[in-house]
Amino acid sequence: MSSGASNPTAATMDKPVSLKRNSEDIGWEYGVLVDPNDLNVIQCKLCPKVAKADIYRLKLHIAQKRGQVTPCPNATHEDIARCKQAIEDSSKAKKARLLEQQEVRDNVVIDVPSDKEDETGLHEIGSSSQATVGPMDKFTKPLDASSLSKKIQPKISEHIMKERLHKLKRYIARWLYVRGIPFNAINNEEFDQMLEAAGCFGPGAKKPYQHELREKLLHEEVSDTKEMLKLQENEWAKNGCSIMTDAWTDQKRRSIMNLCVNCSIGTSFLESKEASSESHTGELIF
Ligand SMILES: [Zn+2]
Repeated sequence: MSSGASNPTAATMDKPVSLKRNSEDIGWEYGVLVDPNDLNVIQCKLCPKVAKADIYRLKLHIAQKRGQVTPCPNATHEDIARCKQAIEDSSKAKKARLLEQQEVRDNVVIDVPSDKEDETGLHEIGSSSQATVGPMDKFTKPLDASSLSKKIQPKISEHIMKERLHKLKRYIARWLYVRGIPFNAINNEEFDQMLEAAGCFGPGAKKPYQHELREKLLHEEVSDTKEMLKLQENEWAKNGCSIMTDAWTDQKRRSIMNLCVNCSIGTSFLESKEASSESHTGELIF
């Protein structure tokens, strides 16, 4: 790490370099952070433009790339050329990264080579290689899994399917081992459904972005959960309910009180409350 670049106190120094992110990015030669704690508000050094976005957009501004940002009026031909080059390089790097990710996926092989199928002696006249999974299967999906398994699957595929499944399991196992995921994290309907959804989607399925996990997907899940609780809430109003509490002590020795509501449909969790400083009298619990 270069000295001072990531030190927030350096922000008080005269040199704008102190507000430069610790980065090799050429964009930082043309921009300076307005606030050292916010990497997304950047002031152009050549004009009064403040880009309320990342360094990439500042480079678009210097490179006079019209459409997304207003072009910098004071950039010289050299500045423009340098930033254009940097944008091109980073898009090349991005393409290379995508290619690499694709290669990682392309290395996923769960299909058993077709010559192995012949070795098993299960090759049937007429059925040829229909039951094996070939390149075209990327674009198709069994119309009816049960009919497929009855007609073609048993003879040819039983052995192959077993081997494919084994390979799939090895990918799951590796993810658990390498990332230190508790084994029981897969013992639930959510994991089963995820696996099924990925399988139904077919090759090229995409994982969510972390941003989506924090925002959109989380909000959707919360609203689904609230929707599920509505049924119970109606029941509370109609036939009554009991509010239950349960106190426990967490690893930091904080006293936590859980509040649950029970009704004829079931029990749901309302909230938990830290009550370390209060004595748990009947009055408090009430
Ligand atoms: Zn500018």
